[in-house]
Amino acid sequence: MRKVRKGDRVKVISGNDRGRMGKVMVVYPDRERIIVENVHMITKHQRATQNLREPGIIKREGTIHISNVLLVCPECGVPTRVGFADVDGEKMRQCKQCGEIFR
Ligand SMILES: [Zn+2]
Repeated sequence: MRKVRKGDRVKVISGNDRGRMGKVMVVYPDRERIIVENVHMITKHQRATQNLREPGIIKREGTIHISNVLLVCPECGVPTRVGFADVDGEKMRQCKQCGEIFR
C-alpha cells in the first residue's frame, strides 16, 4: 500500500523546492522515490544520438524521496500525512486532517 500515487497533488516540505506544489508524474516504489511536475529540475547535457538529433542542454525533473512531500488532500486541500483506514476489508488512504477516505 503506497502513500503517494501517480496523479496525486503533493507539497514539497524540504530541499530547495520547499513549499512548491505539483502533480506526481512517476512513482518508483522500490526506491520510495517520485518525480513531481516542475520540482527538482535538473540539467542534463545531452549528446546527439540516433534517437535525438539535437544535442544540447535539457532540463527535466529529478527524483525526490517520498518523505520529502506531503499529500495535498483532494477534499480539504491541506497538505497532510496519510493514514490508512479499513473499508470493507480494503485498506484505503485517509486524510489525517479532515478524515476523508480516498484511494
Ligand atoms: Zn483532508
